[in-house]
Amino acid sequence: SGSGSGSLMWFRKGLRIHDNPALERAAQSTKFLYPVFIIDPHYMEPDPNAFSPGSKRAGLNRIRFLLQSLADLDLNLRKLGSRLLVLKGEPSQVLLRCLKEWDVKKLCFEYDTEPYYQALDIKVKDYASIAGIEVYSPVSHTLFNPADVIQKNGGRPPLSYQSFVKLAGQPSWASSPLSVTISSLPPVGDVGGCEISEVPTIKELGYGDIEQEWVAAFEKPKGDPSSFLKPATTTLSPYLKFGCLSSRYFYQCLQDVYRNVKRHTSPPVSLVGQLLWRDFFYTVAFGTPNFDRMTGNRICKQIPWNDNNELLVAWRDARTGYPWIDAVMIQLHKWGWMHHLARHSVACFLTRGDLFVHWEKGRDVFERLLIDSDWAINNGNWLWLSCSSFFYQYNRIYSPISFGKKYDPNGDYIKHFLPILKDMPKEYIYEPWTAPLSVQMKAKCIIGKDYPKPVVPHDSASKESRRKMAEAYSLNQKLNGKVSEEDLKKLR
Ligand code: FAD
Repeated sequence: SGSGSGSLMWFRKGLRIHDNPALERAAQSTKFLYPVFIIDPHYMEPDPNAFSPGSKRAGLNRIRFLLQSLADLDLNLRKLGSRLLVLKGEPSQVLLRCLKEWDVKKLCFEYDTEPYYQALDIKVKDYASIAGIEVYSPVSHTLFNPADVIQKNGGRPPLSYQSFVKLAGQPSWASSPLSVTISSLPPVGDVGGCEISEVPTIKELGYGDIEQEWVAAFEKPKGDPSSFLKPATTTLSPYLKFGCLSSRYFYQCLQDVYRNVKRHTSPPVSLVGQLLWRDFFYTVAFGTPNFDRMTGNRICKQIPWNDNNELLVAWRDARTGYPWIDAVMIQLHKWGWMHHLARHSVACFLTRGDLFVHWEKGRDVFERLLIDSDWAINNGNWLWLSCSSFFYQYNRIYSPISFGKKYDPNGDYIKHFLPILKDMPKEYIYEPWTAPLSVQMKAKCIIGKDYPKPVVPHDSASKESRRKMAEAYSLNQKLNGKVSEEDLKKLR
């Protein structure tokens, strides 16, 4: 067994050393500190049956981002005289083994509101209490403690952004500077019989040599697509998701800027407003049983979605025949990130807009492929876009043809992600099936052969979808939300 008593810092999200109250507490009055990250093979190891490279639950982009974040965390810990101990296996089993082996007296980890962690943490806390281990699990992933906001609202989460913002007010910590620097950490003690490794490379996880392939395939991009490739938003979402960046520290930095300028924007559109959206979804998600499902979810409209796998796969694999939709989906596969309104377009198209496929199916695809994939935010936005909750104007849809054209009339975005359409004249780029055959031939892209025809005709499909939405809404109203599977079957 390990020598002497120690404390264990269990990293899950919160992959940072700044504004990390769990890490700070773990480091206090202890001889040894064990900073741990546990790799769950289900989450990280290749799944040969998945529809795209990655594990069962995560696409390769997110796995790579996580490994890079861990390597960065390890580097930062080493600067403070410590290091990251990486272990592999089922997280609760591995953790309990470490607690025993290292004679841990104090266990610290960031509180997590996701159902997965809620269940896991109950097990861990139960063990700790029997073993007499002190547990410290502070809320530091969000600006507010979702439980506090729910309590302030009489036990139920506020269901509109405005009411959330009003209720939440100023974060309690906002007036005093957060602790953002640690100058040193206690040493790591003897690790005994626990199998520790360095942060693995993607290759060591079994993915082949991706970096090498990337170097080998590197081709200096032709032309200058930077005008649209330069994102219009911060692209901080993956860093916030894994907690590499503290949302609270980010908030304080934004407040500093606001204090120094004459004018600044406000919620919901400002940057602080974006962070409040994040906290809003965290709060509703935490206070709503079955938030990630239609059935049994009291804030979710019951709608007779179809489970047409062909349509789902066409959408998922960027073969809908609508270049704007397909380009966004290719960006999802390639980058694991898209602009918010691009996400709007494809989520609306899959669900209430055109295909009428269940939002849970689209959610699953996003959940696996987004680098910023976040349980509360992803589910919240799918509920929103499918008009299942929060937003109910189902007559307002995103046209897969005219919406993108508004921002990018030349279709540069489409040509970048769908090079097969690069020679299609701009007047046809958003609806290439309308191009005369001679034009298609000249562009070396025959619709139906080189690029698919539309999976559904937008006009009639969206009209039919709206009709079904109207029908479902009126049934929900009539039955006061208590719609059964039988009732839905009749509408299908
Ligand atoms: P910025 O505009 O720079 O905003 C800064 C931060 O605010 C973001 O990083 C994010 O943490 C937060 N934020 C911004 N918009 C929202 C929003 N609408 N709801 C909640 N928080 C927000 N975002 C995720 O982080 N993870 C997801 O899994 C996710 N799934 C989505 C699914 C759908 C169907 C839709 C429509 C949106 C989803 N979003 C998700 C929200 C949003 O699209 C992204 O947060 C944003 O595009 C990320 O880019 P950014 O960091 O440049 O955002």
